Amino acid sequence: MESTAAPARATTGEGREWFCLDVVNLVDTREEAAYTYAQVLDWVRDAGGLSPAVAAELASAAAGAPEDAADEVRRMVELLRAEFTVFHGLATAGRTDDAPLAAIQAVHAEALAHGRLQHSERGFDWTWEPDLRLPRWLVARSAIELVTGGPLGRVKVCASEDGCNYLFVDTSKNNSRRWCSMADCGNTAKARRLTEKRRASRVADR
Ligand SMILES: [Zn+2]
Repeated sequence: MESTAAPARATTGEGREWFCLDVVNLVDTREEAAYTYAQVLDWVRDAGGLSPAVAAELASAAAGAPEDAADEVRRMVELLRAEFTVFHGLATAGRTDDAPLAAIQAVHAEALAHGRLQHSERGFDWTWEPDLRLPRWLVARSAIELVTGGPLGRVKVCASEDGCNYLFVDTSKNNSRRWCSMADCGNTAKARRLTEKRRASRVADR
C-alpha cells in the first residue's frame, strides 16, 4: 500500500534525547575496518535516532553505492571517536580539546546545510531527505544539542574499573549514579569491594 508514498524523511522530532551517547557506547572506535554500513544503520536506529522506515531506505541506497557507504562507515567511526573524546573529557576532567569538538561541529554544519526546517507540532523540526550521510548528521546533531543545551554536568563515564567506559546522562534525582547499570558494572564493583574486604579481613586474621 505504501509503494507510491514519498521517501521517508528523517526529522529531529523523532530522535530520542542524547541518543548520540548510546551510539558511542555500541561501538569500539578502535576497530573501524570491522564495521559495515548496515551496522551503522543498526546503531543509530537501535539508539532511537533513526526511524526504521528511513533506515530501510538508506540500506537499499547503500546497496547501490557501496563505495560511498564504506566511506560513510569510516567517517562515522571518526565522528564517534571525536564524540567519545569530548564527552569522556568533560565527564572526567570538566574540559575537552578543541579538535574533536571542531570535528563534531563540522559534521553538524554539513547536516544543517542539507536540512530543511519544517513545521511540526512543537514548532519547527529539522528534516532531511534520505542520504547516506544522514546517520552521521543525526549523531552530530544530537551531540551538539547535548554540549549546547546540556545537561552537561550530568554526563558521566561508568565508574567501573574494568574499562567499561560507558557514557550516560545521570537522570537520578541527586545526580549520584556511578555505573552504566547496576545489573552490570554496579554489581561487579560491589562484588569486588566485598571480595577485597574479605581478603583484607583474612589478612588481618593472620
Ligand atoms: Zn559500566
